[in-house]
Amino acid sequence: MAMLESMRWLLRLQVLEFGQTQTRAVAAEVAELRSKIPPQILGHYDRLRVRGKKGIVPVVNQVCTGCHMRLPLAVVMTLKRGDDIQLCDTCGRYLYLPEDAGEVEPNQTATEPAKTKRRGRKPRAKTVAA
Ligand SMILES: [Zn+2]
Repeated sequence: MAMLESMRWLLRLQVLEFGQTQTRAVAAEVAELRSKIPPQILGHYDRLRVRGKKGIVPVVNQVCTGCHMRLPLAVVMTLKRGDDIQLCDTCGRYLYLPEDAGEVEPNQTATEPAKTKRRGRKPRAKTVAA
């Protein structure tokens, strides 16, 4: 997987800190992650976290799921190669590519599960009889 180590740690930290589980094991892992993540990354993440916002969000279909803005292809390609940290220009969150999403190529329709496409879609109201 081509995600940068610091971003993997940050994502794990976020899962723990935004999660409901508060055990000693979780606290210990949080402390360990916080000691490993570079301070400037942690600082940026914490500024968002205190406002209840997630500091790292997945990119799905070339869109930042933090603010739903379309990202430049170059940003997605950099994430794909895993050679640099990328921030969303619009909302300032760290970005990552989920392992099985964020595909840019359109020739993936055969393997695409139908469920994800329908998510959030409301049934259309039938023609209102006058
Ligand atoms: Zn964004």
